[in-house]
Amino acid sequence: MSQLADEPRIWIANPMAVFSGAMSGEDAERDCRGGVVVQGTRIVECVAGGQQASLPVDQIVDASDAVLLPGLINTHHHFYQTLTRCVPSAINQELFPWLQSLYPIWSGLSDKHIEAATELACWELMLSGCSTVADHHYVFNQGLSEAIDIQAEVVGRLGLRATLTRGSMSLSQKDGGLPPDSVVQTEQQILDDSLRLARRYHDAAEGSMLQLALAPCSPFSVTEDLMRETAILAKQQGLRLHTHLAETIDENEFCLRKLGMRPVDYLEHCDWMGPQTWLAHGIHFNSEEIHRLGQHQVGIAHCPTSNMLLASGICPTLDLAAAGCKVGLAVDGSASNDGSNMVQELRHSLLQQRLRYGASKITHQQVLHWATQGSAEVLGRQDIGVLAPGKQADLALYKLDELRFSGSHDPLAALVLCGASEVSKLMVAGKWVIEDPLQTREQLNELISRHQQLAKQLLA
Ligand SMILES: [Zn+2]
Repeated sequence: MSQLADEPRIWIANPMAVFSGAMSGEDAERDCRGGVVVQGTRIVECVAGGQQASLPVDQIVDASDAVLLPGLINTHHHFYQTLTRCVPSAINQELFPWLQSLYPIWSGLSDKHIEAATELACWELMLSGCSTVADHHYVFNQGLSEAIDIQAEVVGRLGLRATLTRGSMSLSQKDGGLPPDSVVQTEQQILDDSLRLARRYHDAAEGSMLQLALAPCSPFSVTEDLMRETAILAKQQGLRLHTHLAETIDENEFCLRKLGMRPVDYLEHCDWMGPQTWLAHGIHFNSEEIHRLGQHQVGIAHCPTSNMLLASGICPTLDLAAAGCKVGLAVDGSASNDGSNMVQELRHSLLQQRLRYGASKITHQQVLHWATQGSAEVLGRQDIGVLAPGKQADLALYKLDELRFSGSHDPLAALVLCGASEVSKLMVAGKWVIEDPLQTREQLNELISRHQQLAKQLLA
């Protein structure tokens, strides 16, 4: 405690609007309408509207021209895919042909590609207000054995909170899978490296900046043995489990044809059902499967843009949540979104989900909740995603000073409905990582030209 007493107290004061992260949030919102006080890495006080901080503060950051949110949390991404946005052979395709046209390109990824792509994707996410990222890296071609180590170095350098997942593919075309031989590894290679990475990087402590999870790519790219062994290893090491599931009708058909069961049955068959598991997409479930997933408190990374772009379908978010699933938001890989902007993802989620559930059920608070507290729950974290004393000081501030906001009357709704795209400030674990977006963007020019060069080279 004495160490904390030495840290300056910073009051992010009097935002024009605030969202606490909690869905039942009216009381919680009212409680922090006067902003939050940060000390060290944590929020130490929520200040009620019209009130002063209860103890003297060392610095006041006037937030009266900004909307305050908990930092957004992205629950599923593939950073490397920033290098293959809008590839002509892949655009206008659905998932399976889209993947098959990209696998050969991805087989050329090198360390340099991973480093530049990770850095670029992280900045893109951070500029959109994202303070915690989850990445699913599953391409390990020859010579790319240290992709996760590179990602860990980059997120550490940027001061970004992350869950990196050690992905895998072990079922190539010759064994009846979808990926080519050039991007798959043996089960032993995958399990050995997963254990190495868990020992080296996974920090389960409260306030952790880096966690590791295990993530076989999908039922159509790994063997049943690997699914089972990965679940055993995750349990031994206290890691979470992640995979793509029920993204398309094609995948359901593949599972029925090759495995003799639907994806959720397969998940259960491989001993994956439980609160430690979160699934990307989760679209094509029947009502009995939704009930079963809910009973096991499985998490769902809802990826609306990707699902619309690949014409995959609409995630039954409210049904899954009502059944007991945790639901969070995600941009998915940059080749199936062509962007990594979390605040735009909020808008896409609201628009897409209204087609299924109607306007009164899908509010801006609902999608904001998915991107904050909901996403935190999906990643198994109690310490982020909410503005409350004791939680980590991960904060996003948005100024509504662009043309698109002029004339709007509800600042919090305007963020989603008018379509914000960039923060004015971003704090992660009590440190400002973006204070002036203009300056940040100037610093990124070198990165953009290096990334662009590497992207061209990858396709050449
Ligand atoms: Zn994905």
